[in-house]
Amino acid sequence: MTATVIDGKAFAAKVREQVAVHVTTLKDKHGITPGLAVVLVGEDPASQVYVRSKGKMTVEVGMNSYEHKLDADTSEADLLAVVDKLNKDPAVHGILVQLPLPKHLDSDLVINSIDPAKDVDGFHISNVGLLGTGQKSMVPCTPLGSLMMLRDHLGSLSGLNAVVLGRSNIVGKPMAQLLLNDSCTVTIAHSRTKDLADVVRRADIVVAAVGRPQMVPGDWIKPGATVIDVGINRIDAPDLGEGKTRLVGDVDYASCAEVAGAITPVPGGVGPMTIACLLANTVTACCRANGLAEPEGLTA
Ligand code: NDP
Repeated sequence: MTATVIDGKAFAAKVREQVAVHVTTLKDKHGITPGLAVVLVGEDPASQVYVRSKGKMTVEVGMNSYEHKLDADTSEADLLAVVDKLNKDPAVHGILVQLPLPKHLDSDLVINSIDPAKDVDGFHISNVGLLGTGQKSMVPCTPLGSLMMLRDHLGSLSGLNAVVLGRSNIVGKPMAQLLLNDSCTVTIAHSRTKDLADVVRRADIVVAAVGRPQMVPGDWIKPGATVIDVGINRIDAPDLGEGKTRLVGDVDYASCAEVAGAITPVPGGVGPMTIACLLANTVTACCRANGLAEPEGLTA
């Protein structure tokens, strides 16, 4: 079997188009422009790239983008004051504090200071609780994007066996919760899981979010299973030239694609969906803040 490739780049472009349509309606019918504020503390190069690309795409779909760049030695009090100001600003519907924060800042404290209604990353403890109890919440972007791709490819997920590799707060746990809310039978595997290969072989859906390059080989995959590879790992690629690197996922794409029914590539799978879902969450937050109907298909 050769797996169908789930094209995250094309899917994300479709989601962004849908977002842009809703933004136009919000502007034309209601005179509201959704706004997303991104707070970056310090000069981590990867974070700078993410923030630039988030700002660019926010503007491309017609929303307002507000960037707050703070020095690496910003005090917790000053950062909390910035978040407080954004919480109170009616032009700002979504707030994202780019992680990781410098070590002297308490990430949990900062994230939990964001108004949960504006917490478009879905990391605030209130949103975690709402998701966990199956209530309307802001849903973390990477798991939301993964869920959208699964629903699009499989239709109903009800009754399917899903295995989530990884139990982080930003990917593994919310992903498992979303699959459970869609009536999958969910197993969460982690570094202490015994007989991981056997656990994965039972899965109709495998979501890999481990951070270990090409860890899952094809002979762990049940024939026909759908594989969502969240991992983004940079490895040496001497075949491309001296000192060159390439991005790979947490699954061994070549061997898994031989067995799976469908698979997301890396790059071009889950990655592009994450920013698209951030924009979707901002439109959702804007609609909720203004008592308007939420866009269909852009939330969990
Ligand atoms: P974390 O490091 O926070 O979590 C990794 C998880 O994998 C942990 O739960 C850990 O288990 C588990 N794990 C580690 N080694 C093994 C192993 N040998 N067998 C089974 N489980 C193992 O990572 P994140 O969740 O933040 O990210 C995971 C991956 O997803 C990374 O590659 C990251 O770059 C990528 N990512 C991609 C995004 C995107 O937009 N596409 C967004 C966010 C992340 P334990 O808890 O026991 O330590």
